[in-house]
Amino acid sequence: MTFKELGIIEPILKALAEKGYTQPTPIQAQAIPVLLAGKDLLGSAQTGTGKTAAFTIPILQHLAEGAPPKKQRKIQVLIITPTRELAIQIDDNVKAYAKYTDIRSAVIFGGVKQASQVRTLKNGVDVLTATPGRLLDLINQGFVSLKNVNHFVLDEADQMLDMGFVHDIKKLLKKLPQERQSLFFSATMPKSIIDLSKQILGNFERVNIAPQQTTAERVDQAIYFVPKKNKTKLLVHLLKTEPFETVLVFSRTKHGANKIVKKLSQAGIQSAAIHGNKSQNQRQKVLNGFKDGKINVLVATDIAARGIDVSQLSLVVQFDLPNIAETYVHRIGRTGRAKASGSAIAFCDQDERSYLKSIEKLIEQRLPVVEHEFNEEEASVAQESSKPSKPKSRSYQPNTRRTGNSRNKKKSN
Ligand code: AMP
Repeated sequence: MTFKELGIIEPILKALAEKGYTQPTPIQAQAIPVLLAGKDLLGSAQTGTGKTAAFTIPILQHLAEGAPPKKQRKIQVLIITPTRELAIQIDDNVKAYAKYTDIRSAVIFGGVKQASQVRTLKNGVDVLTATPGRLLDLINQGFVSLKNVNHFVLDEADQMLDMGFVHDIKKLLKKLPQERQSLFFSATMPKSIIDLSKQILGNFERVNIAPQQTTAERVDQAIYFVPKKNKTKLLVHLLKTEPFETVLVFSRTKHGANKIVKKLSQAGIQSAAIHGNKSQNQRQKVLNGFKDGKINVLVATDIAARGIDVSQLSLVVQFDLPNIAETYVHRIGRTGRAKASGSAIAFCDQDERSYLKSIEKLIEQRLPVVEHEFNEEEASVAQESSKPSKPKSRSYQPNTRRTGNSRNKKKSN
């Protein structure tokens, strides 16, 4: 299957060839014909499957084949996404695929001054990507009208609900014309999401990529049982003994993320934190440094990590286990993107055992356990050198590791 066989027009084919895309990913092969036919779509697909191109390419094709732009362009396509980073990334994709068309796009998000965004809007845009808060702000100030929107995309809907955007979305829906093509994407499909999708979609087709709520198969996963206070030591040990190129470490809190960066720095490992307390400019600088390979280790909170698209991300570390099992799936979806394979490891302390249980129930598998020397209380680790009988450290090896499941040997709660 090629993009040409899917009926993609020449100017977009040229842009795709420039991006080096030789063939459509499975979600693209499934979604593009549905969308070109003008149908609504409910897609359950994680980021990393090629979902952005799956929805932008057919929409851009509709625009390119439609009436030539009027003197004052009106917003015809509205793409809503939960985070600034994702919004920027989607708009980058739109610009890349629309490079050889006459289509104009823009992105708006909060956390920065609105003046330059307003200027861009005044010049006229065909495709607008936005986060909900800033968009509503600019609508209320009269800078944006949604009256001419004929394509609406709600991306990462589950994350949107987790972040409390449900009221904003409902307000936006009221401002959209009834006559439109609607697309709804979510990595997970709990009942709240299905309910929301019914309010947005008309007669829709469903496209399922990573089967609902299962873990990305390409990702090699493992769990380390470790007391809370030894987590940093274990992380330092892993980063020093394994040659990972790009590592994304998840921390549950912003404060925790800063603390990890500090401890890594004390151990001689350079890293940077990305979370909501950082300014948009700081976040973008760190992200660019990570993408360019200047920073190898990025420590992020869940929300900040949503927009990170690094094709070579080799390792995801969950320093804290999330209390919502779906978040585990989102996090490991950050590696093993498109065609790359990746590794994901998670640390689990005594208090997090119940989270692990929920995660394993959700993904319907038991995570392999890696034995290591830091799974002891601090005191015994300190005495380790004087105890030759201790099991040797077994560092994480993406393709060869796996010990027996220590949960079968040890009793745990
Ligand atoms: P997404 O799921 O949209 O975040 O895309 C994940 C990554 O896959 C991005 O880096 C895209 O540039 C890349 N990608 C999307 N479609 C293709 C394709 N057909 N061939 C190769 N890479 C792709």
